[in-house]
Amino acid sequence: MTHLYHQWPRKMASRYRRRGYWLDRPLTHSLEQRAATCGHALAVICGEREISYAELNQQAGNLAARLIASGLRPGDTALVQLSNVAEFYAVFFALLKAGIVAVNALFSHRRLELYGYADQVQPKLLIAARSHELFSDDRIISKLRQRHPELRHHLLLGEGASEHSLEHWLNSAVAHPPQWQPTAAGDVAFFQLSGGSTGTPKLIPRTHNDYDYSVRASAELCALSPQSRYLCALPAGHNFPLSSPGALGVFHAGGCVVMASSPEPLSCFALIERHAVTMTALVPAAVALWLQAAPNHRAALRSLRLLQVGGASFAEAQARQVPSILGCALQQVFGMAEGLVNYTRLDDDPEVIFTTQGRPLCPDDEVRIVDEQGQQLPTGTSGILAVRGPYTFCGYFKSPAHNARVFDDEGFYHSGDLVLRDANGNVKVVGRMKDQINRGGEKIAAEEIEHLLLQHPAITQAAVVAQSDPALGEKSCAFVVSSNPSPSPPLLRRFLLELGIAAYKLPDHFHFLATMPLTAVGKIDKHSLRERLAVHPFECEGTP
Ligand code: AMP
Repeated sequence: MTHLYHQWPRKMASRYRRRGYWLDRPLTHSLEQRAATCGHALAVICGEREISYAELNQQAGNLAARLIASGLRPGDTALVQLSNVAEFYAVFFALLKAGIVAVNALFSHRRLELYGYADQVQPKLLIAARSHELFSDDRIISKLRQRHPELRHHLLLGEGASEHSLEHWLNSAVAHPPQWQPTAAGDVAFFQLSGGSTGTPKLIPRTHNDYDYSVRASAELCALSPQSRYLCALPAGHNFPLSSPGALGVFHAGGCVVMASSPEPLSCFALIERHAVTMTALVPAAVALWLQAAPNHRAALRSLRLLQVGGASFAEAQARQVPSILGCALQQVFGMAEGLVNYTRLDDDPEVIFTTQGRPLCPDDEVRIVDEQGQQLPTGTSGILAVRGPYTFCGYFKSPAHNARVFDDEGFYHSGDLVLRDANGNVKVVGRMKDQINRGGEKIAAEEIEHLLLQHPAITQAAVVAQSDPALGEKSCAFVVSSNPSPSPPLLRRFLLELGIAAYKLPDHFHFLATMPLTAVGKIDKHSLRERLAVHPFECEGTP
């Protein structure tokens, strides 16, 4: 593990300490505190299981002790893939306690994504679930071990009685626990996943100090308390439901997290009613489904006080419907796994809440709106968002060339989002410069899919662009130039699936061209492809 990717300049680091943002304590602090002071309180509800703070902390401690006893050491890395289950948090805290730096792959990720992460972090430990199609047998584990001889241990959820049973490692204490400790508070605690815009998925090192600050400040901004009951309906490892304020914010405040396996409205409504859920976080595509389903289930939503919406552009017309149809307050959230999170405040004027994505979390978030040359633009003009601050990362893991492109000389990260800011500092997301498709909140790096399509023997050129979609906000459309006869869209999708990518990354539409439009310098002219889609949105072939 190298430590070069998370260094704030010394002056900024001391400012963040002076201002009380960085407390130099591990991310496990809140859980340990809660376990000590109100251990009996419920931390997580998952199906029929109710897990207290003391139990969660005990499970995390058991696993940490066993991992250290089996030879793993602080600074080692782990690849984790779990769904929305209580064990996600027990593992998250166990690895933090033991100083093992994890990448939490999404449950929808498949072989190619896991290989991509493993190639970068060279994990010594794999934690996954038998219920995932990739781990229904041991083939992928053998392949990962061949590829990464340093991978020494694997633990599986749902393995039954075996030495590899995750449940066993979580639930049985070690007789003589070894000494261990988390990585230093200024060091990498774990990796977040970047939505990405390049061919290989990027990892975002998050330190204890920076993440702990964003969690604490977000919990306060959202007025979380021991009475908060938070429904985790988005993928648990994603930055939004993990830290904005997400489950970690709820644990910080001593509340309870209720696990949902998906944001599907009827199952979520039943959980809200059964467990008196007070708040949740959704992406706009899910909110649209909730708005449709809610009128027949208003009574079930009685306890819900706050709905956070973020991850993708939220239509103003839908934002306005939230209070009346769902019977709760709305908070818009514009955040990124790289750091910066903007929130509308709970006491903002309703117009601000309906029409903007809020303001930065921290007074020391330095946000600039710049043009393509990096020049700052006047208030009210849209431009590229650039940011640095106490919880915005300082560089992607092992990606010097990409870092050189997305960070400027003053250390500002250029997110690729096009935004404008009003006189009160409220930010509005108006578009995107980065080459990415935001499919209902799930991010697809165009270049990654283009590179995979070019592996098909019949395809000579490929360009993937976003097409606006009423349900998902955006879908992905692949323009391809291929030899005759062109492969059919179903064959191309199967080809991509066989390469091992997550299903959400499959192009929704394929369009076959004789030649690609090119810019003056000979690059594929994506602007003209997007315009073509805007004029003829349904001309694409191959809707699945
Ligand atoms: P992620 O790192 O997966 O959280 O994705 C972050 C990206 O999602 C941002 O850079 C934006 O492109 C997009 N995003 C997040 N929240 C919003 C929002 N409220 N409105 C529009 N786009 C958003």
